[in-house]
Amino acid sequence: MSIKVAINGYGTIGKRVADAVSRQDDMQIIGVSKTKPSFEAFAAQENNYPLFVAKAEQESAFNEAGISIAGTVADMLADADIVVDCTPGKLGVNNKEMYSKAGVKAIWQGGEKHDPIGTSFNALTNYDDSYGADFVRVVSCNTTGLARTLYPLEVNWGVDNVKAVMVRRSADPGDSKRGPINSIEPVLNVPSHHGPDVKTVIKGMNIQTMAVKVPTTLMHVHCNIVQMKNIPDDVNSILEVWENTPRVALVDGVFNTSSTSVKSMPGTAEIMEFARGLGRDFSDLNEIAVWKDGVHLVDGLLYYYQAIHQESDVIPENIDAIRAMCELEKDNMKSMLKTNQALGIN
Ligand code: NAD
Repeated sequence: MSIKVAINGYGTIGKRVADAVSRQDDMQIIGVSKTKPSFEAFAAQENNYPLFVAKAEQESAFNEAGISIAGTVADMLADADIVVDCTPGKLGVNNKEMYSKAGVKAIWQGGEKHDPIGTSFNALTNYDDSYGADFVRVVSCNTTGLARTLYPLEVNWGVDNVKAVMVRRSADPGDSKRGPINSIEPVLNVPSHHGPDVKTVIKGMNIQTMAVKVPTTLMHVHCNIVQMKNIPDDVNSILEVWENTPRVALVDGVFNTSSTSVKSMPGTAEIMEFARGLGRDFSDLNEIAVWKDGVHLVDGLLYYYQAIHQESDVIPENIDAIRAMCELEKDNMKSMLKTNQALGIN
C-alpha cells in the first residue's frame, strides 16, 4: 500500500520532506503547495510534484511565470491520506479545521505549540503515542536533538536533571532577511521553550534550558550538563551507547589517530563541509553530531556538546511519523531503519 502524502508549504522543510517521501517505497507525493512562484515553485515543477495554491486568486501569478497549477490546497487534500503542514510557524495550526473537514490525517512542525495538536513526536522516544493518530506535531530541530541524546541516557542510567544552553543560528542558510548579523541575543525567558518542549516527547524529564542567538546560519550547538541517577563507569560507556543510537553521529574535534574515526571537525563549519561530501539531498546532515572529545564526566556530572543541522534532523522524523500515524509499521526501530536506509543515513 502506498500512502498518499500532500505537503502544504513547500519551503525549507516542505521541499525536504517531499523528497524524503519520494525516496520511500510505502508512500508517495500527490501534491505540494505554494503561495508565490518562487524558485522553489520551479523546483517542484522540475520534480514533477503537482503544484497547488493556498488560495485560487494566487494562481494567476504562477500562470504568468509559466508554472501550471493543479488546483487549490482543498483540491490537494481531497486526494490525500495525510498532509504534512510545513507552512511558517504559528500559521499551520490555523489549518487544523480544514484538515479535519477534509478527513485527512495531519502532521505539523515544531513552529507550532504542543497543546492545540495534542500529540508530539520523536521516533526514538515516543513513536507509539502517534500510532494510528490523526493529528501529530514533529518537535523542533532543537528538541529533536536533545531527545535523541538524552533518551539513551535516561534508558541506561536514569536522568536526574539536565541543564542545557542552546547556541542557536540566527537564520536558515537560504534566508537573508533575518538576523542578528553582528550581535548575540539572549532569550530572556528561563526556561527557553526548548526544555518544556522536550517533556512533550520524554515524559518526566527534568530539564532547564537557556538560549542565545548567534550570527551563523550553519547549525545550532547545545552545551549540555546532565546529572544521572546512576553514574556511568566512564565516558566510553556513554559513547558506546550513543554510537548505537540511530541518528546520532560521533565526531572528533581534534585529529586523533587512536580513535576509530580520524576526522578532525573542530566546529560546525567542518561538520557541514563533511556533510556536503556525503552527497545526500540538499547536502544535509540528518544526524545529531556529538563531539567525542567534548564528552566529560566531572564529579559525577556529564558534560557534552552537540551540533544540530536545523533544517534536516526533523526530516526522517516526519517520515516515521507518517508511518506511525498510517499504521504502516508498529516497531519504531524498524521504521527508523527503513527511513535511514532510504535516505542514506548511517
Ligand atoms: P519556510 O518559510 O521556509 O517555508 C514555508 C512555506 O510555506 C513557504 O514556501 C511559503 O510560501 C508557504 N506558505 C506560507 N503561507 C502559506 C499558506 N497559508 N498555505 C500554504 N503555504 C504557505 O518555513 P520553514 O523553515 O520550512 O518552516 C516550516 C515549519 O517547520 C515551521 O513550523 C518551522 O518552525 C518548522 N521548522 C523549521 C526548521 C528550519 O530549520 N527551517 C527546522 C525545524 C522545524
